[in-house]
Amino acid sequence: MTAPEELSRRLRELPSVDEVAGQFAGRYPHEAVVREVRAALAALREDLRAGRSPAQTAWELAEARLRGLERSSLRGVINATGVILHTNLGRAPLGGAPPVAGYSNLEYDIASGKRGKRDAHIGGLLRNLLGSPAIAVNNGAAAVFLALHELAAGGEVLVSRGELIEIGDGFRIPDIMRASGAALREVGTTNRTRLEDYREAMGERTRLILRVHPSNFRIEGFTAKPELAELAALARESGIPLYEDLGSGCLVDLRPFGVKEPLVRESLDAGVDLVSFSGDKLLGGPQAGILAGREDLVTRLRRNPMFRALRLDKLILESLSATLRALLLERWDLIPALAMIRIPGETLRQRANALAARIPGAAVVEGRSLSGGGATPEQSLPSWLVALPGDAAAVERQLRLGDPPVISRIEDGHALLDPRTVFPAEEDALMARLQSIL
Ligand SMILES: *Cc1c(COP(=O)(O)O)cnc(C)c1O
Repeated sequence: MTAPEELSRRLRELPSVDEVAGQFAGRYPHEAVVREVRAALAALREDLRAGRSPAQTAWELAEARLRGLERSSLRGVINATGVILHTNLGRAPLGGAPPVAGYSNLEYDIASGKRGKRDAHIGGLLRNLLGSPAIAVNNGAAAVFLALHELAAGGEVLVSRGELIEIGDGFRIPDIMRASGAALREVGTTNRTRLEDYREAMGERTRLILRVHPSNFRIEGFTAKPELAELAALARESGIPLYEDLGSGCLVDLRPFGVKEPLVRESLDAGVDLVSFSGDKLLGGPQAGILAGREDLVTRLRRNPMFRALRLDKLILESLSATLRALLLERWDLIPALAMIRIPGETLRQRANALAARIPGAAVVEGRSLSGGGATPEQSLPSWLVALPGDAAAVERQLRLGDPPVISRIEDGHALLDPRTVFPAEEDALMARLQSIL
């Protein structure tokens, strides 16, 4: 038989949709069965045409696809990369408290029996932590959008040319500004912006001065920008609010642990009128965007119709409230990202040694963990890593493709595991995965 004849014979031998579907009758809804069986048969035909021999029958493939519908594609992974706020792995890992099931007092004031406000569940906590009124929306980008839309739509916003940044995944300050209806007025030059540049750019249409934390980007060498307090003084003198997009928004001082991020409170103390930052970066909570500052400005933001469109869901409120309470009570163990930043070097060395001792050919090496999450890239913390034996790319791939997936990193020809981002409770599962592949 010639190759084309062989191919058409094998294609003809594939079962019909009805033949395969019959086996699943009663176990899954008919429509789902037909869709998955068709997809399974299409995949088999494609394999045959490409000259590959299929590893599974149509029944097996369809069964796997139907079973796949019963599982979430969003699953837990072991993060052994050492990047604490890993954007691809959900940024700040969440602590364990399960969300409220059933009904809740989301917008109900139990004491009075009347309607309540959903932001009451976090407003007081944020005020205690920041010393100012605050609200929360869907994420940092939504916070920037809401602030610009309410405070500057139809007018101009002054921004230093050195701060017109893209943070990642297409979040560009000029684009958000355009969408909010505010016009951008660039000030100074890329490397140097002086207070005078802001003053000279002010005009009738100026509504807001915006300062943006450069996050994952740094200008070095011949640079200058005004101190925050100087900019705040200019804002006050001219009656134009100063708004700072802080990005990561650190609420507790992590400088003793090597993360050199300014505190949100320091910006407010320097006289900034409004700040915003993410919930899932150095705050250590769920995805959210927090806006805090002058009472009159926060009140305006809350009244803007877009606030309703960008508001938080009850699952997030529950999780954010848990994080904020843990921050107030300094229970770092309940905020995994902060707990990971605070792990002493000696503990990391012991954990790396204990892992390596059980893996033949593994070695412990000095290395760095990254804070990640748009915090400055050079912000790294000293750590102790386990260098795995074997072909780095193959080991990295096998670890990633198993269950649970283990995400490692490759450096200097080795697959590396950083114990800092591995929860101690995950170590047994990690060992089991390592033993199965090495
Ligand atoms: C991360 C970041 C944002 C966006 O925040 P998301 O929560 O990711 O939407 C905005 N501005 C700065 C400076 C950032 O670092």
